[in-house]
Amino acid sequence: MKDSKVRDDLLNKEDEIERSLRPKNFAEVIGRKSEKDSLSIMISSAKKRNKSLDHLLFFGPPGLGKTSFAYVVANEMNVPIYVTNGSLLSRAGDIASIMTSLEPNSIFFIDEIHRLRPQVEEVLYPAMEDNSLDILIGKGIGARSIRVDLPNITIIGATTRLGMLSLPLRDRFGMILRLDYYNKEDLINIIIQKAGMLNISVEGSAVEIIAENSRMTSRMSIKILKRCRDLAIVDGRSSIGVDHVKKILEFMGIDNNGLDSVDRSILLAMYKNYSMKPVGISSIATTVSEDKETLESVYEPYLIKSGIIVRTPKGRLLTEKGIKIASELTII
Ligand code: ADP
Repeated sequence: MKDSKVRDDLLNKEDEIERSLRPKNFAEVIGRKSEKDSLSIMISSAKKRNKSLDHLLFFGPPGLGKTSFAYVVANEMNVPIYVTNGSLLSRAGDIASIMTSLEPNSIFFIDEIHRLRPQVEEVLYPAMEDNSLDILIGKGIGARSIRVDLPNITIIGATTRLGMLSLPLRDRFGMILRLDYYNKEDLINIIIQKAGMLNISVEGSAVEIIAENSRMTSRMSIKILKRCRDLAIVDGRSSIGVDHVKKILEFMGIDNNGLDSVDRSILLAMYKNYSMKPVGISSIATTVSEDKETLESVYEPYLIKSGIIVRTPKGRLLTEKGIKIASELTII
């Protein structure tokens, strides 16, 4: 299949190897069977009808394949993809000038779509519904709005914060797919796939340890794998062994529970400073000196998924497992 032509605002920032590791088609996407099935049906139908694909929204924590899926969809549709980020589109004119210049049937991928400003978001509504834009010409009393036709395009949005998207925006997506954390088996297969792409072999038990300490995300497993690869090369070994993985996990501050230093600070703050009572996310953020949004989109979902904390109406609370881990941290 011909690779999609990519015009990408963020391309320069993205590491070349990182991009080459992305799956290019459904066959290369590990796991995610139901998501692939749903998307395949949509794509086949759109192709048979000779129409552009319906708008799609991917949501879930970072590093779980949202961007990769957008590229895969573009490749499977054999259409160009234009990639940007909600935080980069600060004026309504930004989005208008991009959309009017896109080729028919293109995919317009907006990562972190929850960061769009309301005035920019409003421009998207008619674009998503009627392939048109309402552009305001002039100022003050003489200002008037003209409607401009757009080529048929598909908007794919990705977000870690579905709750921050306005309902009118959410309603305009034909399909909303949640990309959840990977299980161990899928992570093992992802690690084996990426090791092959990186041209390095990994011992079976080393793969297992990487999978168990990757916060259930593919991005983290790839990060650990790449650092282990570097260490193996420096050691003059052709294969990544358990010793390499253990050393890298130690360098990265990942403990036996698969937690990093921020996770540990959160648990300790909840255990010590709040006497294990329910606590609001803003208070935790202040105590551990982390940005509230990062806590909400990266740390909290993982700690909840791992059964270490729970969300209650009064705030976040350590579970029994969380209390046990936190009490052991205080001994160290
Ligand atoms: P997100 O956009 O959700 O932050 P990405 O799409 O950037 O996540 O995925 C992170 C990395 O994980 C990518 O480099 C991609 O190669 C890899 N990846 C994610 N999901 C899969 C999968 N199902 N199969 C193979 N590789 C995957």
